[in-house]
Amino acid sequence: MATLTGARVTVAGAGALGLCIALELARGGSEVTVRDPAAPGDNASGVAAGMLAPAFETALDATSADHLDLLLAARDLWPELAERVGIGLDRSGAAYHGEHIGAVAARLKALGAAAGIYGDRVYTREDWRLSPRPALAALRSAAEACGVRFEQARAEAPGDGALLVLATGAERRGLAPELALLEPIKGHILRLSGGPDIGPVIRGDGVYIVPDAAGASVGASMERGVDDRVVDAARVAALREAAKALLPELADLEVRAETGVRAATPDGLPMVGRSAAPGVLLAVGARRNGWLLAPLVAQVVAAYVAGDDPGPFAARLDPRRFDRQQG
Ligand SMILES: Cc1cc2nc3c(=O)[nH]c(=O)nc-3n(C[C@H](O)[C@H](O)[C@H](O)COP(=O)(O)OP(=O)(O)OC[C@H]3O[C@@H](n4cnc5c(N)ncnc54)[C@H](O)[C@@H]3O)c2cc1C
Repeated sequence: MATLTGARVTVAGAGALGLCIALELARGGSEVTVRDPAAPGDNASGVAAGMLAPAFETALDATSADHLDLLLAARDLWPELAERVGIGLDRSGAAYHGEHIGAVAARLKALGAAAGIYGDRVYTREDWRLSPRPALAALRSAAEACGVRFEQARAEAPGDGALLVLATGAERRGLAPELALLEPIKGHILRLSGGPDIGPVIRGDGVYIVPDAAGASVGASMERGVDDRVVDAARVAALREAAKALLPELADLEVRAETGVRAATPDGLPMVGRSAAPGVLLAVGARRNGWLLAPLVAQVVAAYVAGDDPGPFAARLDPRRFDRQQG
């Protein structure tokens, strides 16, 4: 853990990234204030499915294909954090059940992810999950217990030698020029009145079902360039159909739809590091893996604040990689 005694830091945003960062900074000795105008959990982190899924995210999503090492390293930070703050981790794994079983199994093998074909499914234990809203509450409690202050307000530009960490999700205006690089990706997710309550996440082609005792979730649409949170009946119907094709017994269940907006950088990895704006650090653009990546992002940010080595993944996450690409 980085030692940060005396640093005064404002963290903008109380999603998974902001809360993990605030906790990490406060544990290291920083004086931390989190500012967020939204109600707790009313953000992408609260809406998410909560999968910590290095294997299938790299096998099924081309954007993450080259980053299994980074995603596994992030996942492996979760057991210690979850134990410390009281977040339940479900390690039942995940199973793909779709048209491309052979290809998906081969892809996982080529990537080096442990997986096998069992009947008509490809199964891996590499992917875990958590329940997002209880996890947000646990992170906030743990942060408060470490002295973090929370203010329900927008963050302002840093002054007075303080640092500002932007963990503002899909916000694209204001406090740092790099935010303009972010693309919003709206997602619909369905909460079912029943469905599988335990066992692996079930992955299909363009759909997944996350078992939960309180009702399974079905996700998620990827609507590039859209940043409203309006529920679209056609998207809900499409997700229902896809889930029904995967598990016909879901057909008659009641559904409640929620939406959230993810933020994506041009290469799909977050921007974590120094902004061109003075006194500002960035922790944005985690796309569809914000929960998975949050503890790793927090460690990298804490290292920058302390002036320590930010570790082996910092270069891949450095916001300046986009300057280099342009020039
Ligand atoms: C449907 C769906 C399913 C998903 N499933 C998964 C999954 O299974 N696993 C996974 O790892 N990821 C998943 N994701 C992605 C994940 O939700 C995001 O990557 C993650 O939540 C991003 O967290 P964040 O803290 O960066 O942003 P957010 O959770 O969006 O939080 C940002 C916060 O910043 C606040 N804010 C904005 N502007 C300001 C300002 N100026 N000052 C102060 N505060 C500000 C906002 O109010 C907000 O509360 C999913 C996303 C969606 C939409």
